[in-house]
Amino acid sequence: MYKNSIFWFRQDLRIFDNKGLIKAIKSSENLLAIFIFDKNIVGDFLWLKDKKFLFLKEALFSLDEELKELWWKLVIYNDFPERIIPKLCEEYSINAIFTNRSYGRYWKGRDEKILSYCLENDIDFFGENDFLLNEPEEIEQRKVFTPYYKLWSKKLFEKKIVLERAENVNQTEVDFDIKKYLNELIPWEKHPYFTLDFWKQRLEEFNYEKYDDTRNYLGMDWTSKLSVYLRFGIFSVRDVYLKVKDISETFVKELAWRDFWQHISYYFPYVKEFEFQEKRRNIKWRYDKDLFRKWCDWETGYPVIDAAMKQLVEEDSMHGRARMIVASFLTKDLLIDWRWGEAFFKKHLLDYDENVNFGNWQWSASVGADPKPLRIFNPCLQSEKFDREGEFIRKYLPELEGEDLKGIHNPLENEIDYLAVIVDHREAQRECREEFRRSVERGKVKD
Ligand SMILES: Cc1cc2nc3c(=O)[nH]c(=O)nc-3n(C[C@H](O)[C@H](O)[C@H](O)COP(=O)(O)OP(=O)(O)OC[C@H]3O[C@@H](n4cnc5c(N)ncnc54)[C@H](O)[C@@H]3O)c2cc1C
Repeated sequence: MYKNSIFWFRQDLRIFDNKGLIKAIKSSENLLAIFIFDKNIVGDFLWLKDKKFLFLKEALFSLDEELKELWWKLVIYNDFPERIIPKLCEEYSINAIFTNRSYGRYWKGRDEKILSYCLENDIDFFGENDFLLNEPEEIEQRKVFTPYYKLWSKKLFEKKIVLERAENVNQTEVDFDIKKYLNELIPWEKHPYFTLDFWKQRLEEFNYEKYDDTRNYLGMDWTSKLSVYLRFGIFSVRDVYLKVKDISETFVKELAWRDFWQHISYYFPYVKEFEFQEKRRNIKWRYDKDLFRKWCDWETGYPVIDAAMKQLVEEDSMHGRARMIVASFLTKDLLIDWRWGEAFFKKHLLDYDENVNFGNWQWSASVGADPKPLRIFNPCLQSEKFDREGEFIRKYLPELEGEDLKGIHNPLENEIDYLAVIVDHREAQRECREEFRRSVERGKVKD
């Protein structure tokens, strides 16, 4: 039993079934619960106008409320972890630090620094697996999803998941007013689209039975929208898994994809630098800033692409099928480097996860793990198929309200009062196939 411990909240902003927190409680007499706005990430000041912080602020208030039920409170710092943690350890005579593991490049390095401080100062440091159903190293290395999924399912079955509740423990005395602190740091408002009330209702009421049939339709509200809440650990991924496991295998598979991309980054860390597939490393990407800007600013002339990009920028999120369509368009029709797309998504997505985003971008560009034959999405067909009535497009591009559905789906073959297309998909896909073929030849010459 440790006399004084810290529990460091990160991507696990809840008390229910929080693995690291439960371990900390069981092992400590006094606990200090902290969250750090890491200055290495947010700089010297938070981007006050960035609405992503509104979400985090609401999540922290809510966590503090939950902690109060255990007679605790959350203490928040805006600092460099490598500076504030040693300070707290000295001030409160800390013997152990507990947290849950994170998996991005920066986070791994950060934990290593804290661990080495702990080793030098005779403080124990514990990281638990709270974020994933199966951690990367629990599964033997696989490059393709289907064999990975078989091992993943078997492992999960063996685990016999039981959800746990946090118990009470003494709170280390700290003078801290969370309302004053957060309201000064971030202007008081809620995120316009992602609030905590929304997820509670969503988790309970979402129709997982219909998910298989409807998840691809852009205009319908038929994906779970849980990724944001999973990203911040607002609820336990094990809780979601237990809810869906006997209802929708498709949904369970999506949760496996979430773990799969962590697995790929763990075993093949070079995917952050270059393409997973060696034969795809000689593509001559275009670095055309003007075309890229038009993709970012929803000015491609293809309504389905433009509507999706507007959704991303305005709502900090994008429908999963739409992500695939716009990523294919950027990397295949415009032949722009997938790294530019990855960086733009990073800037805007509230559910941004480095390993998942890199994995999906490479997959969409046909250069990544789980390779499929070169697949180029036709934006016109995708639009017809997955936004049949044009609801999605018209929601984001109301100026197309009076336009004929045929033109909205296929501006190449129909008259439409809208922006001119920036490339003709029919020619672009030929060029793309040719470039992918040539790039393989280039690779062979090098060998
Ligand atoms: C180019 C591109 C970039 C992406 N970047 C991210 C990202 O940064 N962060 C992120 O969480 N997802 C990312 N995704 C995956 C996926 O699009 C989102 O997880 C999903 O759209 C979130 O909406 P939802 O919660 O309604 O998903 P649902 O369809 O309801 O799926 C349920 C859950 O399964 C997981 N999931 C679903 N699809 C995937 C997938 N392809 N890969 C990994 N996990 C998945 C998510 O956690 C999601 O919440 C990306 C996909 C593409 C094509």
